Amino acid sequence: MTVLDIARPSEPAAAFAAAPAAATPSLVGLTRARLGEALLEAGVAERQVRMRAAQLNHWLHNRGAASFDAMTNVSKDLRAALAERFTLDRPEIVSEQISVDGTRKWLLRLPAQGPRMRPAEIETVYIPEEGRGTLCVSSQVGCTLTCTFCHTGTQTLVRNLTAAEIVAQLVVARDRLGDWTGGSAPEGAIVPGDGGRFVTNIVFMGMGEPLYNLDAVRDAIEVMADGEGLGVGRRKITVSTSGVVPEMRRLGEETGAQLAISLHAVRDELRDVIVPINRKYPIRDLLDACRTYPGASNARRITFEYVMLKGVNDNPAEARELVRLLAGLPAKINLIPFNPWPGSPYECSDWETIEKFSEIVFRAGYASPVRTPRGRDIAAACGQLKSETRRLRAKEREALEATQ
Ligand code: SAH
Ligand code: SF4
Repeated sequence: MTVLDIARPSEPAAAFAAAPAAATPSLVGLTRARLGEALLEAGVAERQVRMRAAQLNHWLHNRGAASFDAMTNVSKDLRAALAERFTLDRPEIVSEQISVDGTRKWLLRLPAQGPRMRPAEIETVYIPEEGRGTLCVSSQVGCTLTCTFCHTGTQTLVRNLTAAEIVAQLVVARDRLGDWTGGSAPEGAIVPGDGGRFVTNIVFMGMGEPLYNLDAVRDAIEVMADGEGLGVGRRKITVSTSGVVPEMRRLGEETGAQLAISLHAVRDELRDVIVPINRKYPIRDLLDACRTYPGASNARRITFEYVMLKGVNDNPAEARELVRLLAGLPAKINLIPFNPWPGSPYECSDWETIEKFSEIVFRAGYASPVRTPRGRDIAAACGQLKSETRRLRAKEREALEATQ
């Protein structure tokens, strides 16, 4: 029997475990403006707030400080006043899985937002590649949309994440990867040898529809892109949408993020079924909004995602229609092999069919468009997050019951 070195769930390190359910708010992930409000509350004079907020932003989001005591250029009194009112808690890491290909998936528990609310769980995935590392973040718990190939679409619990909860996913990743400037890495983390960073890119391709939570996504991008803080450039941040047309312009204007569109079909009749938001905003309106997306250019192309569903959207005529539809748009095409989930109504197209489809797209001038599946052994594909972890926990429960 061959034993594969697959998913290795590990216990969260003590330093990253959640604090007790006390309602003391955390400063982690807040914008400079929100940090300023916290400082005012802690008694800082108005004329000092800007400077102090910049200092806090540096400690929290550039150095990854996990305690107020680490903030050596902040006076002892202020540190004490802050510690009385706030924490530096991160979300609790429920599990961490590491794939044979280096992909890591974290299941995070977010505190309940109110007395009668339940804590929520989300997933974040880190995908290392040659010369860069991409973090796939969630913007909502579940999704109100119901794309038929997507597991998130079948989940019922839905709430928007706050901006800080979105940013905290990057903070947790930097903690676990030892990816802070001048910081010390936790045990087991790999520190980049060349002084570079592990997480260089962010994609909003986890759970949820980012354009249905745009204010929080905008604030989160502000914090992630702050050059004196987390330092991920806006051009390295991609927001993926199923096509919420009325919000696309605002996304471009207010975030400067790269745009990705989950197209998946070239005819309205089919897209109406597999991406139901198409009934509200059909393909023609969607592509019009792309044509006027602020900042789109040949240097900053829009990515069109196309999931390959066997016998549904994968024939050569559809590849030709795809190329025709996108003519004149500064576009990149990403063909995504469908990642099946238990009970999913589709299969992934055969490799031969994907190659044929890709060849047509390639001949039209789009380079290497098939996305390599990553972290399959830990079910890390974006869009079907959280499902597998739940299943494992159910199995674990069964195993436990069997021994009792
Ligand atoms: N709601 C946004 C972002 C999250 S989904 C959106 O729909 O764009 C991120 C990407 O994963 C989307 O392109 C989505 O279509 C794709 N996806 C979802 N489920 C998938 C699956 N089972 N296999 C492959 N890709 C999937
Ligand atoms: Fe929601 Fe995106 Fe999944 Fe559609 S593909 S259900 S929009 S997360």
